[in-house]
Amino acid sequence: MLTHSLGFPRMGPARELKTALEGFFAGSVSPGELHRTAQALRLAHWAVQRDAGIDLVPVGDFSLYDHMLDAAVLFGVVPRRYGQTGGPVDLDRYCRMARGGQDARGDVTALEMTKWFDTNYHYLVPEFEPDQTFALAGDAILRQAAEARTAGFAAKAVLPGPATFLLLGSCAGEPFDRLTLLPRLLPAYCDLLARLAETCPWIELDEPVLCQDLPADLLAPFRRTYAALAEAAGPARLMLAAPFGSIAHNLAFTRDLPLAALHVDLVRDPTQLALVAKSLAPDTALSLGLVDGRNIWRVDAAAALARIGLAASHLGADRLMLAPSCSLLHCPVNLDAETELDPEIKSWMAVAVQKCREVRLLADAAAPGGADRPDVAEALAANRAAWESRRKSPRLANPAVRSRVADITVDMFHRPAPYAVRAGQQRAALGLPLLPTTTIGSFPQTPEIRQTRRRFRQGQLDARAYDAFVKAGVADAIARQEALGLDVLVHGEPERNDMVEFFGEMLDGFCFTRNGWVQSYGTRCVKPPVIYGDVSRPGPMTVALAVYAQSLTPKPVKGMLTGPSTILAWSFVRDDQPREVTRRQIALAIRDEVADLEAAGIRAIQIDEPGLREGLPLRRRDWEAALALAVDDFRLSAAVAKAETQIHTHMCYADFGDIVPAIAAMDADVLSIEASRSRMEPLTAFARDGYPNEIGPGLYDIHSPRVPSVAEMADLLTRAAAVIDPTRLWANPDCGLKTRTWDEVTAALANLVEAARQVRAGLPAQTGCKKTA
Ligand code: GLN
Ligand code: ZN
Repeated sequence: MLTHSLGFPRMGPARELKTALEGFFAGSVSPGELHRTAQALRLAHWAVQRDAGIDLVPVGDFSLYDHMLDAAVLFGVVPRRYGQTGGPVDLDRYCRMARGGQDARGDVTALEMTKWFDTNYHYLVPEFEPDQTFALAGDAILRQAAEARTAGFAAKAVLPGPATFLLLGSCAGEPFDRLTLLPRLLPAYCDLLARLAETCPWIELDEPVLCQDLPADLLAPFRRTYAALAEAAGPARLMLAAPFGSIAHNLAFTRDLPLAALHVDLVRDPTQLALVAKSLAPDTALSLGLVDGRNIWRVDAAAALARIGLAASHLGADRLMLAPSCSLLHCPVNLDAETELDPEIKSWMAVAVQKCREVRLLADAAAPGGADRPDVAEALAANRAAWESRRKSPRLANPAVRSRVADITVDMFHRPAPYAVRAGQQRAALGLPLLPTTTIGSFPQTPEIRQTRRRFRQGQLDARAYDAFVKAGVADAIARQEALGLDVLVHGEPERNDMVEFFGEMLDGFCFTRNGWVQSYGTRCVKPPVIYGDVSRPGPMTVALAVYAQSLTPKPVKGMLTGPSTILAWSFVRDDQPREVTRRQIALAIRDEVADLEAAGIRAIQIDEPGLREGLPLRRRDWEAALALAVDDFRLSAAVAKAETQIHTHMCYADFGDIVPAIAAMDADVLSIEASRSRMEPLTAFARDGYPNEIGPGLYDIHSPRVPSVAEMADLLTRAAAVIDPTRLWANPDCGLKTRTWDEVTAALANLVEAARQVRAGLPAQTGCKKTA
């Protein structure tokens, strides 16, 4: 049984790629040094995978910035604004496509960025024109294939397949059907495959779109395309891979295709195995993705071997291959780097390097007589022991949490009064003007804040001194907001490094790695917390600081919490129970915090849910059920609040237009959304779907150092007031301000407050609202 890998983390064990790239962007690392670092990483990654027992190592999974950008550059898909006139794209232009640029050569925006399927990885979106042409313009993957061959590795070239490449792209101008480009794209792919075949025994094309809903009219072109590609691959063996879900509903696309192999994700959907097996052409191999490439838990070897047995009974063992379920890009690199992790929890975990070994172990154990080999038997016993220890560990289940969940009643999901009643009470309690102004939570995380936090964490600063420092930051933020004349204030989050990690550190059931970095986009990596057990809140998490902030001002200060769906989406979640069960426990913990904040006198509480839309199922028909559960958990968190307590929520940087009814069902009193870049466009969907509660569209693009003028923001707010009833409208920035400087923030917020004042003054008199503060 041949083993292979679909991709390996790119950054390196010590995030060497990040360091080199950031140095290159800053001008301190030369292009030559950057390429040498990249090459050394590729060679090291191939070696580590081969040594772990992977027969075919991936080539082309490595990218300086992003694999979709690489594919765009490879096939000459370079939007006009970058001034490329055919031929290979050099490093400088590659970087401008990735990050935009503002210098003597002009001012050019980057390619748009969006989430890669239901992962937290952001890819760069290729832009296609209706008369787009394609050519084999790049040779990075060819050079890397040669590099692997020279170094003696058996390699499999991997790249996005043509359907995924087109469907995940966008239209440069007016929308058109990008699939019409398929026949023009095909020759470029054929060219590439023919050339790759000279160095690579295997070529893998990734088509995760097969796990989504596909247009029926793609069926015939897709099949024609793959028949042609299999032909073009010539002596190389062509694998089609469909990670992240089930392809059972799209078997017509792959049935009997002349492929050497088809890879499926049996972690996401083990039940597709029998159906897929029956649909294969007689000499197509089935690659079983049985080791979870998306999470950090050990494989359950016994269960995986049973699946291999089942697959063998359908196809015969000689038609099987083994791999992780998807690219290991979404996983940290090596568990050996975690010297401070609790040894018991660590024994339950496996990340990229360990997962390659697990693939090997399964292949060995499934081979005739393999399980009797002493080394294999020993490794299987260790796997079993780890699972037993995990299953039996008293640290997983917390009976008090379980019984609380069991005792949840229907009324816990409902606020004590409908929005229309609450709104009046809140207006009276908070004394807000029409078009109230507020911010999203965080204020600039200055180098001083970051440095002081680091010193505290490293033990160079005691808790009292750190606490005093944080309080001084809060007092400063409150004073500045009062001076600016904002209506609803925030404490500024100087104590928070990350909005999920901060809560995870105070909740039971979570643990943290030291080095478990996962690429988010480009040079950005995140270190998701690990949820291993039942989640509960040992005590208040944010109350003391919120109360302190509120003590400094008569204006309402918003309590600031992260919502259950976002905590879930941005963590590694235990896989021994449904994710929804874990989220419900988180919801109860947040609910307790809401109750405590309210009891301590906090009159407005924001529960952020920027991650709500992530992790939605790949197929639309599954959305409604998934959203209903996510909405319920938000409501469970929030509904404990009295009618006069104003519940806010916030969402950003995702398309919310198609889930407005679900957002409305969350029943937050006030929703703030990012909207400035698209000039209030998202509001159209909220207006169309009759969003009933209050809404604050972002007027200030917090990703840009620019300070928008009063006129600019007044114009945006006026546009907003044309589609949303002004009695339900707020004025706020797009998102938190932690990445900005105080100079930028002060100037921008002064303009925002003034813009709201001007628009307010121009509105017809309203009953029930004070026109001025
Ligand atoms: N309250 C958070 C902040 O202001 C929200 C961040 C987010 O939406 N990602 O930083
Ligand atoms: Zn945000």
